[in-house]
Amino acid sequence: MKELVVATKNKKKLKEIKEILKGLNLKISSLADYPSVPRILETGETFKENAVKKAVKIASFTGKLTLGEDSGLCVSALGGEPGIHSSRFSGKNKSDRKNNLKLLKLLAGLSVSKRKAHYVCAVALADKDGLIKVVEGTCKGLIAFEQRGKSGFGYDPLFIVPEHKKTFAQLGERVKHKISHRFRALSLAQKAIVDYFKRCYTQN
Ligand code: IMP
Repeated sequence: MKELVVATKNKKKLKEIKEILKGLNLKISSLADYPSVPRILETGETFKENAVKKAVKIASFTGKLTLGEDSGLCVSALGGEPGIHSSRFSGKNKSDRKNNLKLLKLLAGLSVSKRKAHYVCAVALADKDGLIKVVEGTCKGLIAFEQRGKSGFGYDPLFIVPEHKKTFAQLGERVKHKISHRFRALSLAQKAIVDYFKRCYTQN
């Protein structure tokens, strides 16, 4: 079976990646299946740098085709923050709820036109010989005035997709997975995954 290791411990992110890539018929594993891999610190200054670091380090450890993913929310009024700091925006004892409340507080009093934001997702593919490909997908939206909806994770209850006038958390997975930053990045990476396994089969 063709195995792709996703270099994450984030269960919700993993679930989304599995759902988006389900047509490729892969065995998708994660760091939960490789408990002894070293911890990767996100020290890069861009989403792409962090995604590449995760993919290359984990691939060199497992010897398997590995997908590194780094994503986050960039808010225009905050000069692009939280950006690569999205998961730890509320500090040491972070949680999605605390991150969202902090964001609402920082944007308090700003009108709709000043609440522009976009999600970014960088995806890197690597194997034991090094980096194969790195791509990025984005999705534009607005930050709501209060949290709405139950689906998704992270900032989804605050992220309004203007075309739908609903947050990702209200829209649900089916719609999110057709338009999200993660869907767009993975769509750009899919051909490289398919080609990689084709090459493996022709070489063996
Ligand atoms: P990472 O594990 O460093 O890539 O952290 C990504 C963080 O960005 C998550 O913990 C969320 O806070 C935020 N984020 C990234 N993608 C999404 C998404 O699709 N929905 C909601 N929040 C997201």
